[in-house]
Amino acid sequence: MVAAQKVRALSELASYDMEQEESLKHIPLGGDKPPLHVYDAKTPMGKCTLFKTLMTNNCKMDCRYCINAKCAKRTAIYKYTPHELANTFMHIYKKRIVQGIFLTSSIEDPVSSMENILESAHILRIQKRYLGYMHLKILPGSTYDQIKRAMQFANRVSINLETVSPSHLDEIASNKDFKNDILKRQAWIRSLQSRFKHSQGRSPGSVSHTSQLMVGVNGESDQDIFSLTASEYDHMNLSRMYYSAFKPVPGTPLEAQQAAPLWRQNRLYQLDWLYRIYKYSRDEVQNAFSDEGFLGNRDPKVAIARTTFKRPLEINGAEERDLLRVPGIGPKTAKSLAQTKEKLTSLAALRKHGVVLGRALSFVKINGLHQTTLASFN
Ligand code: SF4
Repeated sequence: MVAAQKVRALSELASYDMEQEESLKHIPLGGDKPPLHVYDAKTPMGKCTLFKTLMTNNCKMDCRYCINAKCAKRTAIYKYTPHELANTFMHIYKKRIVQGIFLTSSIEDPVSSMENILESAHILRIQKRYLGYMHLKILPGSTYDQIKRAMQFANRVSINLETVSPSHLDEIASNKDFKNDILKRQAWIRSLQSRFKHSQGRSPGSVSHTSQLMVGVNGESDQDIFSLTASEYDHMNLSRMYYSAFKPVPGTPLEAQQAAPLWRQNRLYQLDWLYRIYKYSRDEVQNAFSDEGFLGNRDPKVAIARTTFKRPLEINGAEERDLLRVPGIGPKTAKSLAQTKEKLTSLAALRKHGVVLGRALSFVKINGLHQTTLASFN
C-alpha cells in the first residue's frame, strides 16, 4: 500500500509545469486521509480528469524557478517504483476518480528516470491492459529508443522548452542544454511521427506533441516567444504550445522575482490562435508587437487590423480570408458571409451571420457605407 502522503505530495509537486488547459482540484478521500490532487484537462480525447504525478521529486537539475530543483529548499523526497505507480493509478482509475494519466518526473539521471516512466507505462498498457488516455513527459536527455517506446504507449508526449534560447535557458537552468537536450529530442519526436505516419493502431505516428514556455521569467519579449512558437509549429510538428506566466515559488532562487501578469499569457494564447487556427502569416503577426517586441494588454487581432486595414472592407463580395481578419468575425461567420448570395445592406443582416458588430464596425463597409458606431453612418 502506497502512503497517501506520497501520492498527494508527488501529485501536488507535478503542478510546477501546469498547462493553461489544466486546473488543479482536490478530491476528499474521507476520514483523516489527505485529499487527492487531480487535474481537469483538455486532451486530444476531450475533457478529462487526470492523475498527474511525478515519479519522484528528487531532481539533480538546477532550474532556478522550480521547487523540485537541487538548489531549492525541498522539504522531503518521495519516489514511486513503477509497480507502485501503476497500482496507485489503477486503484483510483477503477474508482472512476480519474479518466487518464499524465506521467512526469524530476531527473535523478535522465536515462534511468525516463526508464522509470517507461516501465510504469509498460505495466499499465501491457500487464494492466489500461487503454485510456496517457500523456508521458519526455525528459531532457532521454535516448532515441526511449522516446520511440514512449510514443508506442502514449497518446501525447511533451518536452518543455521553458524559455526562448540557449542563453536564456542557461540563465535559469544551467545544466540543461537547449539544443541538445531539448531541440534534438523534439526533432526525434517529429521524425518518429513521420516515420510511423501510416501505421495502424497505437503508434508514434498518431501521438500528439506539445511543449511549454514560461512567460516573463527572464526578460524575453513576446516577439521572442512568438518566433520560437511559430518555428515549432512550422518545423517540429507541434500540436500545441502552452504558455505559463511566471509565478515565483517560495523556497526557490527566483522567489523574490516579480510574477508575470496573467494577461500576458492570455494575449499570447490569442496570438497563437491567429497563427495556428486563422493561418495569419508571420509577417501579419509582426504588426501586433510594439517596437520593443511586446503585445501589451490589448487584443492582438484588433492591433493587427488597425495596422493592416488601410480602408474599411466592403462586406459584400469580400473573400473569406479577408473577412476572417476583421475583429468580430470568426471562421464560421467569415465562411457564411463569403458564401451568401444575398446582398447585405443592414446591421441586422450582419448580426444574423454572426458578426460581433461592436468589434467589427470600424473595419467594414456595408453596401458602400461605413459605420463607425452602432448609431451613425458616415
Ligand atoms: S528538470 Fe528542472 S523543472 Fe524539471 S523537475 Fe527538475 S528542476 Fe524542476
